[in-house]
Amino acid sequence: MAIERTLSIIKPDAVAKNVIGKIYDRFESAGLKIVASRMAHLSQVEAEQFYGVHKDRPFFKDLVNFMISGPVMIQVLQGEGAIAKNRDLMGATDPKKAEKGTIRADFADSIDANAVHGSDAPETAAVEVAFFFPGMNVFNR
Ligand code: UDP
Repeated sequence: MAIERTLSIIKPDAVAKNVIGKIYDRFESAGLKIVASRMAHLSQVEAEQFYGVHKDRPFFKDLVNFMISGPVMIQVLQGEGAIAKNRDLMGATDPKKAEKGTIRADFADSIDANAVHGSDAPETAAVEVAFFFPGMNVFNR
């Protein structure tokens, strides 16, 4: 399987719970390398742009308001099959449906406050990594 990069965000709920390190441990224990990271408090415009694909969905406004409610931790994960591996680690969008032992099952409270974001395909991963880490800000390790 190819080495991939994927964009991960630890959302405001999980940052507020002080579980950044616990979530990083899940990534590293699964063989994913953190090759870029930064904390940010997203502006409304950034959150609207990032989730632009959902702009016509009924939950869009709440999603944007949630994503700007506090700081987030943004990282690029690199490794074999990183996109699917990260999605497996995250679990289902609704934490009630997420498999035991996944990040969302263990750290998320609801479908709106669901602890993490992860790119869902190579095309979106490339766009999302470039959105938050333009230029030379991602490292090869
Ligand atoms: N979301 C929500 N209500 C829904 C569906 C999605 O609040 O009914 C939010 C949720 O935070 C989710 C995000 O919108 O993580 C993006 O939705 P997507 O379907 O892309 O889920 P994900 O890829 O994050 O699992």
